[in-house]
Amino acid sequence: MLKIKYGIFSDIHSNLEALRVVLDDMVAQGVTHPICLGDIVGYNADPRACLRLVRELNCPVIKGNHDEMVAETREARNFNALAGEGIAFSRKRLSDDDKRWLAALPMSLRVGQFTVVHSSLDEPAKWNYVSTELEAESSFIYQNTPLCFYGHTHVARIFAKYNGVRELPRPARLELQRGTRYLINVGAVGQPRDHDWRASYVIYTPAENRIEYRRLAYDLARAQEKIRQAGLPEPLAVRIGMGA
Ligand code: ZN
Repeated sequence: MLKIKYGIFSDIHSNLEALRVVLDDMVAQGVTHPICLGDIVGYNADPRACLRLVRELNCPVIKGNHDEMVAETREARNFNALAGEGIAFSRKRLSDDDKRWLAALPMSLRVGQFTVVHSSLDEPAKWNYVSTELEAESSFIYQNTPLCFYGHTHVARIFAKYNGVRELPRPARLELQRGTRYLINVGAVGQPRDHDWRASYVIYTPAENRIEYRRLAYDLARAQEKIRQAGLPEPLAVRIGMGA
């Protein structure tokens, strides 16, 4: 029997070089079920190509805050200047059909025995950030499955709830314990912010009750060059090189 392996990835942010490496790695690792946690677009130079690749996967996709904003016409509020430039650029590059597709994405989903969301299960449409144990506690209140995967902060983290919530050190592999609930940030494909520029995603193998973080180098120089060629702000090129 084919072993189910989920490949869970988030925050691609129009970084085609990073996305391609992640998709290739999933194939090499025998991932059977990819799942995208949103923010396909925004920030970097290839919104259209990234969206096409994700759509072609025909897999569950969750809506991110950049996906939501790019699909709308109103001014990007609650976005800083750099993010706003990425939103405006993505809007210009995407077709109306792409925008309708983004607008129709769900805020969270239950897949098998786990849940996926972009930001937090506590009012996902408010786009709260879960970076601390206190913030994780708020999301756990609404988590009805042992396991939930999320993105949004671009920082890979693991929170566990067993007699209270605590953040675990993040090993490359984690054996999940029965009776403990987990809230796991898969990190970002296209713009990590944990001072490691390489693309991040997670492989979850239910039969082995195990998750594994993958970190993958990609053609950073090319992604940066495309950002400059596109006329996007220089700090966007710098930050993907710093993982910040
Ligand atoms: Zn994001």
